[in-house]
Amino acid sequence: MQQSLRQPLRRIRRPVALGAVATLAIAGLATASATLPEAGQARGAGPVSSLEAAEGHGLDPCRIEPPLGVQLSEGVPTGSGYTRSTGTVRSLNLMVDFSDAPGDGAAMKRFAEFFPQTEKWFRTSSYGRLRYRAETPMPDWLRMPAPFSAYGIERGSPYEPGYRQLVQDIVAAADPKVDFSAYDLVNVLVTPNAGPSALDTVLSVTFSGNGEAPQADGTPLANTSFVYSRQDDGSGSYHETGFRVLPHENGHVFGLPDLYTAEGGGAVGHWDIMSEDWGANNDMLGWHKWKLGWLDDDQIRCAAAPGVRDVTLTPLARKGGAKLAFVPLTPESGYAVEVRTRGGNDEAVCEPGVLVYHVRADVDTGQGPITVADSDEDSGGCTRRPNVHAELSDAPFRPGESFTDHESGLRITVLSQNRRTGAYRIRISRS
Ligand SMILES: [Zn+2]
Repeated sequence: MQQSLRQPLRRIRRPVALGAVATLAIAGLATASATLPEAGQARGAGPVSSLEAAEGHGLDPCRIEPPLGVQLSEGVPTGSGYTRSTGTVRSLNLMVDFSDAPGDGAAMKRFAEFFPQTEKWFRTSSYGRLRYRAETPMPDWLRMPAPFSAYGIERGSPYEPGYRQLVQDIVAAADPKVDFSAYDLVNVLVTPNAGPSALDTVLSVTFSGNGEAPQADGTPLANTSFVYSRQDDGSGSYHETGFRVLPHENGHVFGLPDLYTAEGGGAVGHWDIMSEDWGANNDMLGWHKWKLGWLDDDQIRCAAAPGVRDVTLTPLARKGGAKLAFVPLTPESGYAVEVRTRGGNDEAVCEPGVLVYHVRADVDTGQGPITVADSDEDSGGCTRRPNVHAELSDAPFRPGESFTDHESGLRITVLSQNRRTGAYRIRISRS
């Protein structure tokens, strides 16, 4: 049985380190209909052989579950109401402007700030499983009937009433030409001159899993991302990395929580786009890839039993092979282990190795549901790329190094790396 709850809106503020420029950002507001995972729900995207099914059954202790009331949870599987994250996903892209912020140049140039990079980012990260199709049935600016200032959109604005009015106006303007029911998600790409610079305030936001959203063509616009301004820090990398705000916002549409906290990106650093979407390109955590159905159950090693177990993991950036080990410690939490190397979307990895992180399904979006363990604390990190939380950039463990959680008696040791295949051999000992 599923239960839908109307949740109060979250307000999350995010300080983003931008060199000397202090920046506040906000994102990840979710009016989620919190739902319990359904027993027997499909849990992997790949073909299931009897062997894999048996292995999959052994994964149950690793599917940590959220308690009731967590809006956007790290639990597996993701609750219902979000956009499907495998197969062909059609996004409706609407470029919106206002009388007090008229679109500067062609609307399709705004679109081109995000595409085709966003499609490619998802194709790479999902190993080809998410075929993201961005469509623009209305290639011109969609002029809103009221000036931008009239909607009262600010950092932390709740869905009601400003966003509800904005969505209703967008629907009214586009409906004659757009069949909203044909799309899986909506991106509202606002003219960048509406509202403050992203250096001052990031307004970009996603309302996801929202069953009470305004309707169009019989479907609620339940999963909608709004992108404002430009995440351009002036370092000259905007053309390569400015699109990353959109895969971040769409991550919420697929049910992923924010990993940054009120203190910034110090919990996860640059190891997931839900932690830091400014700056150099990097991929997503293996945990998120499993959650999104981009890893099959037979690519997960669930170390639920006490004792010693050796696992071999291949680099996350490469398709195929075992990718993620998980050590459940409670029904809601555990440690994840994966191999991060430079490749694919992981362009900014400066110290390859074995990344260890704590995952909690009982901690909500923006509150720190994931924490990366730093193999080299207070080192200052190995990257000098702008907008990357440097300290955690050298977090991975190298051969001969171990992570220990004294409280649980868990020890994760990197035994060796196969230079030819890139695979790492890892020992997991737990009491
Ligand atoms: Zn977010």
